[in-house]
Amino acid sequence: MGERKRVVVATGNPHKVVEIEAALAASGWEFVALHDLGDFPEPVENGETFEANARIKAQAAFEETGLAALADDSGLVVDALDGRPGVYSSRYAGEHATDAQNNAKLLAELDGVPAEKRTARFVSTIVFIDVDGTETVAAGACEGLIASEPSGEGGFGYDPLFHPLELGGEPSMAQISLEQKNAISHRGKALVDLREKLGFYDE
Ligand code: IMP
Repeated sequence: MGERKRVVVATGNPHKVVEIEAALAASGWEFVALHDLGDFPEPVENGETFEANARIKAQAAFEETGLAALADDSGLVVDALDGRPGVYSSRYAGEHATDAQNNAKLLAELDGVPAEKRTARFVSTIVFIDVDGTETVAAGACEGLIASEPSGEGGFGYDPLFHPLELGGEPSMAQISLEQKNAISHRGKALVDLREKLGFYDE
C-alpha cells in the first residue's frame, strides 16, 4: 500500500490549494502549500509571460522540495491598453499596491474609452512539474468587459470592475458566488485543461 503522492503548490494563497485539490480530486494526490513545508525565499517573477512566471514558481518549488510541483500565474489583459496590466496585474499601481489602487489606476487609464471598447480577459496559466521533471502547461481565460465603476463586495483584485460575458455582462465578478466564479473563471478553466492533459476525466 503506497502513500498518496504529494504535490507542492507554489502559492501563498490557501484558497488556491483548496481549489486545486477539488479540481484534481480524481488524481488521489495530496496537495500541500509550499509555505507549509518550510520557509523558502520567494523566487523573482521577472518573466514576460504568465507561463514564464508560473514556470519560475513551479521550478523553484520543485527544486526546493524534490516533490512534484504546481504553480499558476494569472492577471488581467485589457485590449484598449495593449494587454496591460498583464503580468503586472498585482503591482499595476506600484510594487505594494492595494486592489483599490490597482482598480483606480485601471479606471484612470480607461477614462474616455467607450463601453464597447472596454473588452478584456482574465488569463491563468498553470505549470505542473512531475517528480521526474516532466512538464505540463495548462491555460484558461475568461472574457469580459471593464465597467466604469466598481460593483460588488466579493472576490478580490479586479473582480468589482470585471463583468464576465458568459453571464451576459450584467453581474460583476464580485457579485457572484464562489461556485459560480469557479465555473466560469480563468483559473477554473485552466484547472479543467490541466486535469484533461494529465488524463483525469472520471469526476
Ligand atoms: P496571481 O497570479 O495570483 O499573483 O494574481 C495576479 C493578479 O492578477 C492579482 O493580484 C489580481 O490583481 C489579478 N487577478 C488574478 N486573478 C484574478 C481574479 O480571479 N479576480 C480578480 N483579479 C485577479
